[in-house]
Amino acid sequence: MEVSEEYLELLHRLRSRLGKAGIKSSTARLELPEPQIMWIGSKTIFRNYMDFPRLIRREPNRLLMFLAKELATAASLDGERAIFIGRKDKGSFSALLNRYMKDFVFCPVCGSPDTHIERAKRLQFMVCEACGARSSLRS
Ligand SMILES: [Zn+2]
Repeated sequence: MEVSEEYLELLHRLRSRLGKAGIKSSTARLELPEPQIMWIGSKTIFRNYMDFPRLIRREPNRLLMFLAKELATAASLDGERAIFIGRKDKGSFSALLNRYMKDFVFCPVCGSPDTHIERAKRLQFMVCEACGARSSLRS
């Protein structure tokens, strides 16, 4: 069987289109850094804290309040760092950050991390910039 020029051309075009789609979906994945945790006395210092709200485009204080509440402690911001009262291990931070991502960052419809939060009265919505879905959030 002879393969026509046209067929090859079509195949080539299809491949380059698929290639582009592949690149797009890989950049849409969000890679979070490892939390850098150290202890000073009875305090836990989360040294690269500010990287997280920056990457996921959420307010630093809201994420901090979430972590503090889940860890049942008090926390404060200190430049790039966050300081928690008590000795907390790195594993709990990783687990909580993953949960926050799942609940408040990734679009439940298409899985994209390109989302933002809109507030209307007492309701909160996650609006996806990739697929346009609006999902209500528990506050
Ligand atoms: Zn979406």
